Amino acid sequence: MAAAPALKHWRTTLERVEKFVSPLYFTDCNLRGRLFGDSCPLAALSSFLTPERLPYQEAVQQDFRPAQVGDSFGPTWWTCWFRVELTIPEAWVGQEVHLRWESDGEGLVWRDGEPVQGLTKEGEKTSYILTDRLGEGDPRSLTLYVEVACNGLLGAGKGTMIAAPDPEKMFQVSRAELAVFHRDVHKLLVDLELLLGMAKGLGEDNQRSFQALYTANQIVNMCDPAQPETFPVAQALASKFFGQCGGESQHTIHAMGHCHIDTAWLWPFKETVRKCARSWVTAVQLMEQNPEFIFVCSQAQQLEWVKSLYPGLHARLQEFACRGQFVPVGGTWVEMDGNLPSGEAMVRQFLQGQNFFRQEFGKMCSEFWLPDTFGYSAQLPQIMRSCGIRHFLTQKLSWNLVNSFPVLKTVAKNRDKGRTNHSAFLFGFGDGGGGPTQSMVDRLKRLRNTDGLPRVSRTAPQGWETQAVVSLRVQLSSPGRLFSALESDSGQLCTWVGELFLELHNGTYTTHAQIKKGNRECERILHDVELLSSLALARSAQFLYPAAQLQDLWRLLLLNQFHDVVTGSCIQLVAEEAMCHYEDIRSHGNTLLSAAAAALCAGEPGPEGLLIVNTLPWKRTEVLALPRPGGAHSLALVTVPSIGYAPAPAPTSLQPVLPQQPVFVVQETDGSVTLDNGIIRVRLDPTGCLTSLVLVASGREAIAEGAVGNQFVLFDDVPLYWDAWDVMDYHLETRKPVLGQAGTLAVGTEGGMRGSAWFLLQISANSRLSQEVVLDVGCPYVRFHTEVHWHEAHKFLKVEFPARVRSPQATYEVQFGHLQRPTHYNTSWDWARFEVWAHRWMDLSEHGFGLALLNDSKYGASVRGSVLSLSLLRAPKAPDATADMGRHEFTYALMPHEGSFQDAGVIRAAYSLNFPLLALPAPGPAPAASWSAFSVSSPAVVLETVKQAETSPQGRTLVLRLYEAHGGHVDCWLHTSLPVQEAVLCDLLERRDPAGHLPLQDARLKLTFSPFQVRSLLLVLQPPPD
Ligand SMILES: [Zn+2]
Repeated sequence: MAAAPALKHWRTTLERVEKFVSPLYFTDCNLRGRLFGDSCPLAALSSFLTPERLPYQEAVQQDFRPAQVGDSFGPTWWTCWFRVELTIPEAWVGQEVHLRWESDGEGLVWRDGEPVQGLTKEGEKTSYILTDRLGEGDPRSLTLYVEVACNGLLGAGKGTMIAAPDPEKMFQVSRAELAVFHRDVHKLLVDLELLLGMAKGLGEDNQRSFQALYTANQIVNMCDPAQPETFPVAQALASKFFGQCGGESQHTIHAMGHCHIDTAWLWPFKETVRKCARSWVTAVQLMEQNPEFIFVCSQAQQLEWVKSLYPGLHARLQEFACRGQFVPVGGTWVEMDGNLPSGEAMVRQFLQGQNFFRQEFGKMCSEFWLPDTFGYSAQLPQIMRSCGIRHFLTQKLSWNLVNSFPVLKTVAKNRDKGRTNHSAFLFGFGDGGGGPTQSMVDRLKRLRNTDGLPRVSRTAPQGWETQAVVSLRVQLSSPGRLFSALESDSGQLCTWVGELFLELHNGTYTTHAQIKKGNRECERILHDVELLSSLALARSAQFLYPAAQLQDLWRLLLLNQFHDVVTGSCIQLVAEEAMCHYEDIRSHGNTLLSAAAAALCAGEPGPEGLLIVNTLPWKRTEVLALPRPGGAHSLALVTVPSIGYAPAPAPTSLQPVLPQQPVFVVQETDGSVTLDNGIIRVRLDPTGCLTSLVLVASGREAIAEGAVGNQFVLFDDVPLYWDAWDVMDYHLETRKPVLGQAGTLAVGTEGGMRGSAWFLLQISANSRLSQEVVLDVGCPYVRFHTEVHWHEAHKFLKVEFPARVRSPQATYEVQFGHLQRPTHYNTSWDWARFEVWAHRWMDLSEHGFGLALLNDSKYGASVRGSVLSLSLLRAPKAPDATADMGRHEFTYALMPHEGSFQDAGVIRAAYSLNFPLLALPAPGPAPAASWSAFSVSSPAVVLETVKQAETSPQGRTLVLRLYEAHGGHVDCWLHTSLPVQEAVLCDLLERRDPAGHLPLQDARLKLTFSPFQVRSLLLVLQPPPD
């Protein structure tokens, strides 16, 4: 029995215990030094180095050369395969034997052709258990392979984490040997580390803290590292301490094993596939060894990768999902950004994700999982609910710089202390660190209910009764249990209305303009392909809807909406891959468009040539450039009905008497140019600035007195750390207008159908811009086609329009609707929104008049006072030093209007700018008459999507998605010329609403909407006459 404790001094006692478990000091005599016993070298080690990411079967057949500990390999992004031949000494019978492996990079152990465990120093995974007890007759010789990726957990940043990768990095194996592992020492180390943690965490003025330290000190007194027979008494002391329970009122922490894996970020997509395999195979091992351990896993795309490349691992995940230990969560294809994807794209994240989870794991997710995102659309709750999701988990709001949100964090930081007594705790190394470790699980097991700490709750495999779970005191929890506990307190929780604005990462609305442009274009292409293919399906018995191709293309687009790709916060390798993905979608999409157009034309006699298609749900009359023989183009004014087509006007009828006033273009002697189409009159000064924008009918001026619009401005853009992510409020203090040179403005198109003027602008010594300002017949907005050659460092380019409008609120388009944000900096909540995101339009309106700014590929915006500002280009240098350098092309447009933006048609104008009329070549005769498939009686309701129903791959059922865009309650009629057999409402996952049958009256359906409501319906079509 140890002597009675002497008078205790806090610091010396604490440090004494620390030294007893230290991996650095006194390992010759302390407990840590005994964790491993005897060791022996490998029988043989050889390696094979490759720039490729090879499959196992191919890799093991390569030429392996002898290798040894201390060898270097690389460079960055290469892979080194090690063949590990080993023989366990016979004397080790009865012992637990590990392969100890320490190397840079991320390793994966293969045994008998299957991946079995990840190895990363960064994720505290440096040993692989060969046997937990070597038996007499067990085979003692075997060959393993270790596949080591030449990148760290967070890529290969040169110097700092988010710096661009160092392509020359070399890697090294520093340990490869067999060793006897002492499990009893490990257990005691876990006890002591926890006691130390409690003593330090609870602090010197806490009674329980002293008890923890006293217990730890007693353990050190009693335990002789060289005498394992002293361990049980020591362990009993620890168990007694941890077994002292807390009271009923203790806070409950729901601990869930997790591994947040960014689908691409500081490493390319292909490395993510291997990160998933390494992490999940490690989780599988933990699930095997700890039946109460639950691992939650999000992102269908990652599971799909593992399914196709590691089928054995996928089958194991399915097994553990059946047992309730592996819990797929989130419901989405990837953890997408919460701001930039369109409403329809957000729906598809859930549609593709939920269908995958149901197919592979037998059920859909009930919680949306978005720990990491750069914002939260106000439409998320509606979209989630209609996709079978009731709960939401995130943590990013805790990053807010200015205002803190009432969200859950740790116990001390729980902002709802009086309202709920449960919180979530996700544990595990992310991004390829392999998730949780056995030590983490061991620690949590000891903390099931210990006085002085929150309770660590636990759940158990699905289907168990809640009551039984409580009495069993299993230790680890699941999302289901967390949310049901929170739900029981939901009556006491507060409600937040509108968007959850993240007061950080506002630069991601602008960074990597080409990715943003690719995203917007591909959203349009897939919209058009689905719509046109649906019409072809309805009209032609022979047409096969390209369901499989469309699923692939959608998944590719959704993949790139991951929260570090579409946001532009990725490395150059990823940005290049994203551009290839967009190019794939464009080229395949255009092929599919042509095929659908050909099917629509078939059987309709008419002139050969072009089919003019309108994929928007209202009639449009617009100027269109039509391709003419010999590669030329000619302008024509065409009218196309709602969701339908019209024959192209014959070349001879090209210059008809214009139904409206033609465009006049006048250049004054001072060099300024006026464009006038009878609706708006635009006046540009000799440098290209907008000095006047008048609504002709009323004579109302839209540009603020004494100010000019189309003013380009440069800002210094140096954030605190997160370069590609953050633009700080202080950048506004560095505003410098870019001044043009008089005499650069010239007339482009001279008027008639179209008038334009163009100019050049030197932005800086290295960057320049050219712009064509275009006004068409009958068009209510003026377009600014812009080309920029951009070569800057840490500069931000915007364009400003000071308006003759005053309002405390500006309106911005978001998914399926819009919301208002302040134009002033009254409070911290207001000024924290100095840079916000918008989709296709923003508007500043006062009573009776307003000015809208439309765009074809931008997302960053702001309105301060009366100045509308569109964010154009940034120049961050990390993690991609080449981000945004080079040539850009984009278009924005300005639309002054009377009345409200809703009544003036701003929303339709923004759609028109983004969905140009299509002039598709018809292989044979094109139809002679116009045709419309759908139209809607109310201008407030947008028919956003027409597609084939997922559930009937060869079937003749369409899904229509509509939403209320004005922000009001609406009753309206949907007209259709298609042969509809049955119409029924459905949810966003296309599941029929049993009470949702809609009667068809005179080829029309009645629909009702509440403000911004999204509704979907299934239309079962009659077979077409063959
Ligand atoms: Zn992330």
